[in-house]
Parts: sequence; C-alpha cells; structure tokens
Amino acid sequence: MTARTARKITVEHGPVATAAKAAPGVWKPVAVYPALTTAQGVVDRIHHAKWLPSYAPAGTFEAYHAPHEDGGTAVWVRYTVGAPAVEPRPTSMTYRVCDRGSGRGYVGVSIVTVVVSPDCPRCGGPRGEARSHWFPEDGAWYGVSRWDNACGHQDSYVAVLAEYRKLVAQLEAAERQYEARVDKHDLARLGEYADAVRLLLAFGAGTPGLHARQGALCLDMRAHHEAALRIQEELARRSGRMSVRNAAWFLAGLAAAPEAFGPRDVADA
Ligand SMILES: [Zn+2]
Repeated sequence: MTARTARKITVEHGPVATAAKAAPGVWKPVAVYPALTTAQGVVDRIHHAKWLPSYAPAGTFEAYHAPHEDGGTAVWVRYTVGAPAVEPRPTSMTYRVCDRGSGRGYVGVSIVTVVVSPDCPRCGGPRGEARSHWFPEDGAWYGVSRWDNACGHQDSYVAVLAEYRKLVAQLEAAERQYEARVDKHDLARLGEYADAVRLLLAFGAGTPGLHARQGALCLDMRAHHEAALRIQEELARRSGRMSVRNAAWFLAGLAAAPEAFGPRDVADA
C-alpha cells in the first residue's frame, strides 16, 4: 500500500457549507482528495445533497474538482442561492503577459496573449479576473494584465507563459499526429462544430482519458467559445465526469451525426 492510498481524508462538511452560504457565489475549498474518483464522487454528492446533508436541498450548491499541486484532487464549492446572477464557471482565462525571452540578456519586452486554465495550478481555486495595467519601457507603453487569485497564490508571467506554450505545443503535436494517421471523417455534417470536434478528437487521440475541461480550454485557445461553453454546461450536468473524446461525441451528438467518429470511450474520465 502506498502512502497515498493509506492517507485517510476526514472532512467536516458542515463548516464548509456554512462558510459558502455566508458568501453566496464565492468559491470555497472543501478538501484535497488523494483519489480523483473520490473527488468526483464528492462533487456528485454535493450537487445532489446525497449523504451530505450540509448541502441540502439538492441543487443549491455547485462544486467542481481540479488538480492540486500535491498530486491530489481539490474540490471547491459555492452556494448559488441569493447570489446576484452567479456567472457560469469560465472554461479558460485570457491574460496579456510580458515575454522577456528565456536567455539572461536583455531582449526588451513583447506582450503575449495567453489562454490558460481557469484554475490555480497550485490549489485548484479560481484564478482572478484580468485588469489592465500599462507601463512604459524603452520609450513605448505596453498594456498587460494583472490579476489576484482569491486563494492567495500568485501567478508569475513566466509560469503562465510556460503553461500556455506547453499546451499549445501539446495541441499542435496532437493535431499533426491525428492528421497523419486517421482517415478523413465526414466533418461537413457537423456544421458549426466540425472544427471543434476535429480538435477534440485529435487532442484526445494522443492522451486517452484526458479530461473534457482540458478540451474546453483548447477550444477557447482556438476561439471555439460556443463549443467550449456547451461542454462546460454538459460537464456540470455530469458532475465533471467527461473525457475529451466523449466531449467530442457530445458535440457531434448536438450536430446529430455522432456515428462518424468511431467508438466512444467506455469509461469516462
Ligand atoms: Zn491557489
């Protein structure tokens, strides 16, 4: 038995629910679970107030799970009743950040717009909204984003840029491989979602079981915002249980032509 499986989690849900109720619409941390499946189960039970009476009546709390830096899965919750127009959870965050190159010498500054996960990479809490900040350098003015994460963890421009570029490289590699080895599907029947479905299938082909949230993020990176939103809504309905491949199936189903895309994943991630 590993140290991780041996670790027991005991969570007092009462105080968590009370804190969430005291601040409607604000995300609160529930706990970090060693196993993803446990976290998924907790999200499901919060939504249905099943075996967790603190979150009754069913449907008054919203929860999600996200990776935690210690290797576990964090669960976050918010109370949705009485909050002035609770915004849906974003599928991505867009920031303008400074790129000062990777070498030691001064190479000036360029501004890069990045699309990254809406979750803090350390604790899984929601990342902050961007606000504009202007600064002068070398005789010119540059506009960048600044943001504060409610969890208190700070994102550096260097880290956010690296996070974005890693995902861009991953996505481009997946697309090249997919184009090279997969037969041409009848994408035309998928209408407005054709490119989005192709992107998800390519992304999912390289990494089986990849989570649909990553797929929604990739769709945002390629400006398929409508498709990303549809997946986010479906994710909420499924309490976060959906792989990238099944997200592709879901979109294809919306276009009523799912059979063009081969077998779906048996077990959802
Ligand atoms: Zn954090």
